[in-house]
Amino acid sequence: MQLASTNLPRELSPGGWLPTFEAGRCANCDAAATIASPLYCSELCLQTAKMIRYIRNKIAEGRTEEPDVSEAIEMKMASVLGGGYPAKARQVSAQLRRAIMERDSTTCRLCGAPATEIDHIAGSSNLPGNLRALCKPCNMKLAQAKFEPTDAAGQQRAADLWRRIDAETPERLCDDEKNWNSLWRKLKNQALNAITSSGVQT
Ligand SMILES: [Zn+2]
Ligand SMILES: [Zn+2]
Repeated sequence: MQLASTNLPRELSPGGWLPTFEAGRCANCDAAATIASPLYCSELCLQTAKMIRYIRNKIAEGRTEEPDVSEAIEMKMASVLGGGYPAKARQVSAQLRRAIMERDSTTCRLCGAPATEIDHIAGSSNLPGNLRALCKPCNMKLAQAKFEPTDAAGQQRAADLWRRIDAETPERLCDDEKNWNSLWRKLKNQALNAITSSGVQT
């Protein structure tokens, strides 16, 4: 399989920097990608890379101390360390969201403050009985309690993520907050070609 990085425009590789990306492999972890998901092997990998670019971008802008930014960083990190957020499964339609907010009087079911979020009580079921209105601080506290890495493996994963976030030049193409948005379509096409020609079915 061809290294996609050899096809990259030189300006993306200043000083000989060759970021990691192999067409047909997950941009985040190098596991095999599929036709259905040519750039990332999983929703978690997609969310991980997105979080890394988000935080790198906020560091570049010097905004990490702003309360809503540091809160967002904590949330994203907690979610990724906890295995990612099953965004597709938990997508709540606007209609369902309105119904739950109405049922709960747009009031946080935990503390009574005005509610802004819909929480899945357990798992990803979108049945009304598993949904409740929460305020943002309560939702965040819950998420953090669920995702706090306490074991050595979790702490190692956190350290690896922070190393990528703090790297002066991005370790991976998908960490590159400046160029990824203009790059990923091209890479996706390369990945699809590589996967198709390697004969992987899925
Ligand atoms: Zn992956
Ligand atoms: Zn609350």
